[in-house]
Order: sequence, then C-alpha cells, then structure tokens
Amino acid sequence: MIDKHVDVLLVGAGAMSSTLGALLNELDPNLTMLMVERLEKGAQESTSGWNNAGTGHAAYCELNYTSVNADGSMDTGKPEFINPAFERSLQFWSYLVNQDILPEPSQFINATPHMSFVWGEGNVDFLRRRFEAMHVHHLFKDMEFSDDPEVLREWFPLIMNGRDPNQKVAATRVRYGSDVDFGVISRSIVRNLREKENFDLWLNYNVDDLHQRENGEWQVHMRHRETDMLKIVRAKFVFLGAGGGALPLLQKSGIPESKGYAGFPVSGQWLVCHNPEIVNQHQAKVYGKAPIGAPPMSVPHLDTRVIGGKKALLFGPFAGFTTKFLKRGSIFDLIKSVRPDNLIPLLSVARDNMDLTRYLIQEAKQTVANRVDTLQLFYKEAKAEDWELLHAGQRVQIIKKHPEKGGKLEFGTEVVASADGSLVALLGASPGASTAVQTMVEVIERCFKDRLEQDDWKPRLKEMIPSYGESLGQDAELLHRVRKHTLSTLKLDDNYES
Ligand SMILES: Cc1cc2nc3c(=O)[nH]c(=O)nc-3n(C[C@H](O)[C@H](O)[C@H](O)COP(=O)(O)OP(=O)(O)OC[C@H]3O[C@@H](n4cnc5c(N)ncnc54)[C@H](O)[C@@H]3O)c2cc1C
Repeated sequence: MIDKHVDVLLVGAGAMSSTLGALLNELDPNLTMLMVERLEKGAQESTSGWNNAGTGHAAYCELNYTSVNADGSMDTGKPEFINPAFERSLQFWSYLVNQDILPEPSQFINATPHMSFVWGEGNVDFLRRRFEAMHVHHLFKDMEFSDDPEVLREWFPLIMNGRDPNQKVAATRVRYGSDVDFGVISRSIVRNLREKENFDLWLNYNVDDLHQRENGEWQVHMRHRETDMLKIVRAKFVFLGAGGGALPLLQKSGIPESKGYAGFPVSGQWLVCHNPEIVNQHQAKVYGKAPIGAPPMSVPHLDTRVIGGKKALLFGPFAGFTTKFLKRGSIFDLIKSVRPDNLIPLLSVARDNMDLTRYLIQEAKQTVANRVDTLQLFYKEAKAEDWELLHAGQRVQIIKKHPEKGGKLEFGTEVVASADGSLVALLGASPGASTAVQTMVEVIERCFKDRLEQDDWKPRLKEMIPSYGESLGQDAELLHRVRKHTLSTLKLDDNYES
C-alpha cells in the first residue's frame, strides 16, 4: 500500500533540503512536498549551530581558497566564484526576512569582520600578494591589509597580546563579514513550510531504500526509528539532501550516474569558550594558514559565534579520522559504502593520500592539552580552564573516478543528477551551507527546466534573488546595489561605506 504520493520528496531536514523546499514552494505553492528526517528534529546534523563554524563563506578570509600559480601569480578564481554565490544567499535570506519567513536577522546572522592572519616572512609576503590580487576586483574592494602590529592589536587584541614584538605579522580585514546560525535558517523555513497545506514533515523516519518505477516515478521506503513502522512513498522528484547520508542513498538508487562515487568521512572538534571576559575581547573570524600536510578543512580559526542570542568563541576545527558518515550515524557507514564500482577509486585515494590518513589518525589521538597548545599559537595567553572541547559535525568528502589516477579526493560540493532529472543527490560539504541557495538554484535549473522556460519561474526567481541571471562578478554597479540592499536588510551594514 502506498502511504503518500507527492511531486517532491526531500530527504533530510538540513540546510540543503530546506532551501530547496523554500525555493520550490515560492515558485509553485501547488507542488505537493514531503520532507523526511531520520532524527527527532530538523537541522541536528551538520546544519546545527555548533556542528559547523557558522562562517558566511564569502571568500574574504579563507586562505585555502586562493592558490599560487606556477608563475608565482595568485589564482583568485575560486574567491571570484564563491563570493557572488554567497551574495545570492544573502539576497534570498533578505527576501525571506521581508516575507516574515525568517526571523529578525540577529537571530540567525550577525556582522562579524572576516580576517586572515599570518606570521613569518614568507606568509606575510603571500598575504600581501593575495591582498594585491584580490582588492582590485570590485567584489573585494573593501578588503584592508596591514602589517602594523599596532593596527592588528586594534583588530584582534586577544591574538596580539603576549606576541613577540619582533615577529613579522600581517592581516587582512573585510568589516562586513558574517557569522551565521544555519540551524535557525533551516528550522525557520521548515516551520513556515509546515503551515502550508501541500507540505508535510515526517520526523524519525529513516529512508532505507528507493527504486525508479517504469513510469519514471520513485518508490521510496522508510521506517520509523522507534516503532519500525514501514511507509512507502511515491514521488515524481526526489532530492537526497541527507548530508553524509546522501551517498548510501544515491548508491541504492542505482542510477548510472552514481557509479564510482565513494566517501571519505572526516570528523571535527572545536575548543569553545563562554567566559564573557575573554569573549568580549574578540569580535571577528580570524582565519590562519593550514599546517603543511593538513587538509583544507582544518584551517585553524578563532571566531566569534552568536548562537541562541549568546556570544561565545570557537577555535578549530580539529579534523580527525572516523568511519561514520553522520555524527549520529554508524561506525559501519564507511565499510557499507564499498561497492565493486567504487573499489578502484577508494583504493587509489587510500594509496595517494596515506599522509592525509596518517594526519587524521594522529589528530584524532590529540589530547585537550595538545589542542590548547595549538590554540596558543593563535592566542598566546589562552588558559585550558576557559575552554571546553565540543564535537562538530561530520563531513563526507567526495571520492570519484579519475581516468589516470583511478580515483580522486575532492573537497567541494557536487550535485549528482539522474539523466531524466527525477533524482538529485548532494555530495560533499564545502563551501557548504553558505552557498546552498546557488546550489539549489542549479538543481532547479537542471531538474525543472521546462517549468523555468514555460512558466513564470525565471521572473519569480529574480524577485527572490535580484541578481539572478546576471553576473555580480562582472557588473560592479549591480553588486553595489544588491550588496547595499542585503547588508541593510540583514543589519550587517554598519561598516559598508561605499
Ligand atoms: C565541522 C564543520 C564545519 C563547517 N563549517 C561551515 C561554515 O563555516 N560555513 C558553511 O557554510 N558551511 C560549513 N560547513 C558545511 C555545512 O555545515 C554543510 O554544508 C551543511 O550544513 C549541509 O547541509 P545538509 O542539509 O546537506 O546536511 P545536514 O545538515 O547534515 O542534514 C542532512 C539531514 O539528513 C538526515 N538524514 C541522513 N540520512 C537520512 C536518511 N536515510 N533518511 C532520512 N534522513 C536522513 C540527517 O539526519 C540530517 O538531518 C561545515 C561542516 C562541518 C562538518
């Protein structure tokens, strides 16, 4: 017996499914939608406030987004892609605030300057060259650079106090960076969707299996995690926004596009400080350089966080080895994902990334005292008693086929869609929730092509995301207009002067 028949089935109630649900509902309120979540509440995995770093990734401070070309010049391609993508999120969130779907902005986004900080002559030179390459572009024109310790003391006193005055240091700053609680965004969206007649949320249901029927629809099996009750749902379109749980479901779908994909799970931990005397001395997200051999997601940063209206400091992440795909997943997740079609990519990545695996195992064995030693490289006067260790969310990095190497490890995000556009899985975790809007618009462009062309979806998208269909990277006037509007709506504009 079929329990429900819907146009759209959203698996998982995190940042990705909720963003797609909100966009689709605004485009066509008559679409019937079901969201299925295995936990007792939405946004409890990677999207939960303390499970991610809450950085509104705009490419202002993340040094790993820029690389050095063979001729010594800076490659700023990635920042020029990520910054406009984040601007699209700001535009959509502004729209949702104006529709009363998102709450008062300070409940989910707060102005937090984004800074990069380095020490040592080579790193200072790298940062200066990075600044020179970036700030000439209108996307980054408000970026400031300083190698004057007195200026840096004003920017981040905690980090400068107790530092050797002879040490060469430098930093960049963009004052209108942000700290975001993606959990509040996701839960607010779902709360609003639940008020609609055409939307349902089933909690505590784990999607176990799915297959495509001859008529192109998907038949999806799910079980209640406490009562074991089985439900069967049919859907015209399925979105696997299950975070770390997306890969196993993609594999079960059996679509040819799923072949060869595997996952490399990485765990995370933070040091967190709630002592107001310390918290009130820092108002920034200060990103450093990843240690040599460390993966990009372990770039250390000392951040102001605002969660549930309370300010705290976060330092990390400390990446580690794990075999779980979800924080509340199973230690057998990794082994269960091994298939004949992904064995070669998996083994090739294991062979080519022995250093990374060794690094992650080593990191997982570090004590709290070791973590505080790392913090003291940033914040010299840090005391262990002011900090506690928290477990962050899991990331499942993508492993895919590679024609020469056999397999390749990727640190980005990938949308894997069936050829007929009836099923999409979102794999990977970076830049993550910050660019969910752009990624979900891409899903709509790929899977709802006819509706975009024939119905009024394009003008509707433009109402929600005013820069839709245009290039913020090429049009300085458009960027200025859009940025001024979003920073003002989201109350991030105290420092936007232009
Ligand atoms: C340590 C860390 C730091 C990060 N820092 C940042 C940052 O600073 N900025 C940023 O933008 N992004 C960051 N990210 C990435 C960001 O958190 C994720 O990209 C984003 O939250 C992913 O959202 P999601 O909806 O895909 O996944 P999730 O939030 O994990 O949601 C997936 C949901 O699916 C459910 N689910 C899984 N399997 C099933 C199943 N079989 N049936 C039913 N439900 C299922 C899960 O319970 C979960 O609720 C970070 C991530 C981590 C781990």
